[in-house]
Amino acid sequence: MTGMKLVSKLLKFKGFRAVNLWFEGKGVGDIIVAVKPHKNGCRCPQCGRRGKIVRIMPPRRWRDVRVCGRTVWLHHSPREIRCPTHGRRVEASPWADPGARSTYRLEYLLLRCCQAMPQNAAAQMLGMPTSTLSDILHRVIGRVRQGHQIRDLKKIGIDEISYAKGHKYATVVYDLDRSCVVWVGRGKARQTIDQFFKDELSLYQKAKIKWACCDMSETFIGAILQHCPNATLVLDRFHVVKALNDAVDEVRKEQWREACAEDRKALKGLRWLLYRHSSTRSRKDTITLKALEKANQRIYRAWRLKDEFEQLWNYKAPWAAKRFLNTWTTAALRSRLEPLKKFVRTVRKHADGILAFVEIRLTNAAAEGINRIIKIVKNRASGFRGLDAFADLIFLTVGDLDIPAQIPARFRTL
Ligand SMILES: [Zn+2]
Repeated sequence: MTGMKLVSKLLKFKGFRAVNLWFEGKGVGDIIVAVKPHKNGCRCPQCGRRGKIVRIMPPRRWRDVRVCGRTVWLHHSPREIRCPTHGRRVEASPWADPGARSTYRLEYLLLRCCQAMPQNAAAQMLGMPTSTLSDILHRVIGRVRQGHQIRDLKKIGIDEISYAKGHKYATVVYDLDRSCVVWVGRGKARQTIDQFFKDELSLYQKAKIKWACCDMSETFIGAILQHCPNATLVLDRFHVVKALNDAVDEVRKEQWREACAEDRKALKGLRWLLYRHSSTRSRKDTITLKALEKANQRIYRAWRLKDEFEQLWNYKAPWAAKRFLNTWTTAALRSRLEPLKKFVRTVRKHADGILAFVEIRLTNAAAEGINRIIKIVKNRASGFRGLDAFADLIFLTVGDLDIPAQIPARFRTL
């Protein structure tokens, strides 16, 4: 086998063969491989039929996977042909998408690398600047997701995440059945979530949503009530518990501000203890809490209420849970603790959503898992240039579509 034949075999481009190979550039240099179609190999990109060559265009280059530390470029002058059906067209190149400047092989490797490692490490491995990498990434993910339809959405979760410093938020919609992200939108206002329901889902799809899970924010609840006629609203357990914990912490902060130096000693180290779930409480914690009962009645009272509230999630029967919630809220209102009273008002307003959890046991737990992944994604891409880059990585790692699987199979190298 001659050298050129071997290169052609390695490249695996249907209808094309390597005709020449040379080094270019300073130092190590890049490898340039000139390719040429077999005789009469030019085909229409739309129908695949052969056509007469009208014009030979100026040469173009496509970046391919590196070999022995050198970047490989494909060098080819595309031909313009006349297709009997479609008229004048630039011939299709089997190694890349029309307009792309990198081959499918490189795109696939890049996607797999970005799934597994930080963007700058991937850029280093592939021998390209980080900016080039994120440009290719954005283009490939955009291309693959174009025309992708959301399907079989029955249980959805809606949540907000911050993606950059300075209170920049994105709204994320999850498919809780399959634990993946189906949509990312800019901002956390009502119009953002309205846009999702308007643009992404048909009336039929909206009617098919059975359960919708979110936090206690009016924005998301309002949108769900408006757009999903058949959905049962379930308030996410983790968000309810978080709101209660925050209320208890508010009481602690109040007391800390009012206390004198002598009293503050007794209040030290309480912050995380108050947040702790009863199942993870140690003996030492119990002793500290006993001491707190004498030291500060108000914090102790707030903590007791929080501790009792945990029982709610153990109920199996909705009527029993409802009775418990009534008793608890009445007790909390009598506590004379303003932050807790505020919490009770929210709980009473959204009692149906909270009790729906007891019945259905659906939480954003899957979403919480995804949130963890999103946090990793966030750490991984140092310095996002915007929401687009962030959304790219979310779709790549926890999206509803297996993106690398969309690249033609014969170009998958891993
Ligand atoms: Zn054609």
